[in-house]
Amino acid sequence: MTQESLRVVVSLDPEAQSFRPSAHNLTASQAVDYAQSLKRDSVEAKIADQPKKHRTENPNDCRQCKKTADALTAELYNSPGAQDRSEQNLAPATGGKEPSA
Ligand SMILES: [Zn+2]
Repeated sequence: MTQESLRVVVSLDPEAQSFRPSAHNLTASQAVDYAQSLKRDSVEAKIADQPKKHRTENPNDCRQCKKTADALTAELYNSPGAQDRSEQNLAPATGGKEPSA
């Protein structure tokens, strides 16, 4: 029996400026597809590892997903990788579709 590793997808609530659970129990490729479809709608999304299957059906009611979303929100404001990034472009790389006028 092969157990594929699972992923959680969280999306950024633009009003609250915080992540909230969007989907869970996804395979890696499902998660990528889903995150890309969110990004196409201009929703910032992140994929996180999910160590084991969540039993709650609705990710919005899922405590484990909320924890993940909270942790990613905290990272957003207190990013340990922020120093690396500040040397590069200030704009977040969301697909490189900026007009180069
Ligand atoms: Zn969950």
